[in-house]
Amino acid sequence: MSFSLTILGNNSAVPAFGRNPTAQVLQLQGEQFLIDCGEGTQLQMAKFKVKKSKISHIFISHMHGDHYLGLMGLLTSMGLLSRKSEIHLHGPALLIDIINLQLEASHTELPYPLIFHPLGDDRVIAETEKITVSSVRVKHGIECWGFIFREKKNPRRLLADKIRSYQVPHAVFETLQQGGDYMTEDGRIIPNTELTEAHEPAKSYAYSADTIFDLSLAEKFKGVDMLYHETTYLKDQETKAGERFHSTTIQAAEIAKRAGVKKLLIGHFSSKYDDLRTFAIEAKSIFENSELALEGTTYWVS
Ligand SMILES: [Zn+2]
Ligand SMILES: [Zn+2]
Repeated sequence: MSFSLTILGNNSAVPAFGRNPTAQVLQLQGEQFLIDCGEGTQLQMAKFKVKKSKISHIFISHMHGDHYLGLMGLLTSMGLLSRKSEIHLHGPALLIDIINLQLEASHTELPYPLIFHPLGDDRVIAETEKITVSSVRVKHGIECWGFIFREKKNPRRLLADKIRSYQVPHAVFETLQQGGDYMTEDGRIIPNTELTEAHEPAKSYAYSADTIFDLSLAEKFKGVDMLYHETTYLKDQETKAGERFHSTTIQAAEIAKRAGVKKLLIGHFSSKYDDLRTFAIEAKSIFENSELALEGTTYWVS
């Protein structure tokens, strides 16, 4: 099982102290998802050896520049590299107008299908063989969305030798993977535990995007394995954080604690801070398993 998150950018507003605006790559068994795409994302991908070609879905949380100004460059480069496979792009409705205008102005035609999905409600917005992605509306100065990525996994795993010895037909595999028993042709019941074993539980990751402190998010992110929550400011800037629709360390940690998550990652640091150590100390004072989201670091969702 490999389910991991690599941070490409962890800063807010402008690049500062060597830190880049927000971008993250989530990887699950060969599938790759890009979450936000601030300026410099392509260069960060090259630096940390993230392959552009493997990205199938891009999620843009909102239209503040520090979350999407790298997108046009990335989409264009994918075209110049002769990409053929489709990209699913999820974002606020206006995003596609901005992209189309830029393509039109430069007479560019992308050689791959760019399929745009406007965000609308809290709902499942993408599904692949291995993952489902849901959108969660968060409170920011403009329309803004968080995302929850849930691994898809059947609760039970088939035991190949037992399946063979009981000659279980393929048609009932799914019932067994869901926990059902098997009835043989002559009416004998073979209990599920004889034919399967428990899988590791499916894992999940939630991305808060930019948000004011909002306790209702603790409900929406309940029980995820890893939560990324923005911490633009330290705790002494609570008033400013509220005025600018952002959160502090203490507030992010409070959401993690109430949501009962296993691990909290904090990021989207204000450009005025050079040293980040106090961010970690303050978050840990409320929620012990807190960690700084550092560029170039991969965090395992476990
Ligand atoms: Zn931002
Ligand atoms: Zn913002």
